[in-house]
Amino acid sequence: MLELAERISATFDTPFRPGEREITIRCSIGVVVASGGHRTADDLLRDADVAMYRAKVSGRGSYALFEPSMQAEIAARVELEADLREAIEHARLTLAYQPIVDLQDGRIVAVEALARWSHPERGNVSPAVFIPSAEESGLILPLGAWVLRRACLDLANLRQSGGAASDLRLSVNMSPRQLGDRSIVDKVLGALREAGLAPDVLDIEITESLVLDVGEEGLGYLRMLRAAGCKVSFDDFGTGFSSLGNLRSLPIDGLKIDISFVAAMLGGGVDAAVVEAVVRPGAALGVTVVAEGVEDAATAERLVELGCPYAQGYYFGGPEPVAAIAARITDPGKAVAAA
Ligand code: C2E
Ligand code: MG
Ligand code: MG
Repeated sequence: MLELAERISATFDTPFRPGEREITIRCSIGVVVASGGHRTADDLLRDADVAMYRAKVSGRGSYALFEPSMQAEIAARVELEADLREAIEHARLTLAYQPIVDLQDGRIVAVEALARWSHPERGNVSPAVFIPSAEESGLILPLGAWVLRRACLDLANLRQSGGAASDLRLSVNMSPRQLGDRSIVDKVLGALREAGLAPDVLDIEITESLVLDVGEEGLGYLRMLRAAGCKVSFDDFGTGFSSLGNLRSLPIDGLKIDISFVAAMLGGGVDAAVVEAVVRPGAALGVTVVAEGVEDAATAERLVELGCPYAQGYYFGGPEPVAAIAARITDPGKAVAAA
């Protein structure tokens, strides 16, 4: 039976050509073996659906065989989703901001907005858990819209304190699903306008490995946002399949080198080579390069030697509430101490 699932799946490996364009369709298959517990066709379909759901989340174009334990997993997922929906509706999420610094002088040039969810019973739920759940359920649309509005208003407040904060920039993460929403351009520009900010203060981060999910329509919206002045960066660069060569054809202004390469960089080997291979041509192509996940002075120094212009990481400061960031920026002593 699994052989049949494999054969069906393989049929979709060849793209369809209904007209001029080539269309690739992937399918997720749920397989269930009838047992005493299945009394009606609906029982079978329900479990096949559960297995299909597992196949879907484990990656596109795969299949999964139903197991009773999957039901508990799905129930937990549905519950998480319901809690998240409620948290969004009642504005119970918050934002933390992490500094991005100029490696030459340690100055904070931008902050990245990171969503936080503190649940009364679950405690702090990691974005690595609730963002995928929001993406699957579509809740990423209201969540993303809220993040954009809140972050723009917070940035406007930060900039008003003047001095070092007056040219502070903002980075916001955006998931591919948000770029499938035709009102995304209005949402981004509306949030900026409402906060009285120019579009060029905003950097939109797209995870590199997910860029294939963005699609032509989404790339079009990114181009429109860039034409309006916003910047676009690849997040977690190095984890996907983009080559520096084809960056020219993508609407990209910056690259954030993934934590995994930066963290392991001092060990030499391939990680240092990746960092080096991004920093040099990145500068030549005119893209802004940020090294993510810098946790110690030695790594920061090595990045300076390599000519990396910007960095982010616990060494310079972790994600903090907006008030703590405001204090850090307006008190230069603190910023220098952090760098
Ligand atoms: P990201 O955008 O790559 O954000 C950087 C992550 O690395 C953050 O995790 C940050 O806390 C963590 N980090 C920063 N410096 C260091 C360091 O020196 N060492 C280590 N080990 N980690 C460091 P966080 O806040 O848990 O966020 C995880 C991911 O969730 C983000 O990765 C981003 O992809 C996603 N995310 C967070 N907020 C949002 C949002 O509002 N919208 C969307 N679409 N995604 C979001
Ligand atoms: Mg990011
Ligand atoms: Mg990242």
